[in-house]
Amino acid sequence: MHEAAIIEDLIRQVLQEAEKNRLQKISIIYLTVGRLHHLVPQTMGELFDLMKSEFPIMAGAILQTEIRPVRFVCRSCGSETTAAASSFSCPDCRSTDIRIVSGYELILASIEGEQNE
Ligand SMILES: [Zn+2]
Repeated sequence: MHEAAIIEDLIRQVLQEAEKNRLQKISIIYLTVGRLHHLVPQTMGELFDLMKSEFPIMAGAILQTEIRPVRFVCRSCGSETTAAASSFSCPDCRSTDIRIVSGYELILASIEGEQNE
């Protein structure tokens, strides 16, 4: 699965942010992920726990993954919908001619930690 690559990338980003903001210790990392990535928060957390061990600054850090729903706009009638399980047709006009507007995001939302004096 691609979780490991995502977390590797995330750790790199977090380290950059930590340096920029002069953090000496990171406590919580908030990640926002669109449902189309098919990531499981628990798996992400477990992998993060394994991979963070190389980085003392993250020793006590927790990864919080928030899954965002998929939203799409109907090209026929223009209505915007939050997609149910795996249905990608417009609930208003039944068209399947849709454009996905969210669900692909993968965002490092914020980091909590302690700053150097
Ligand atoms: Zn429609």
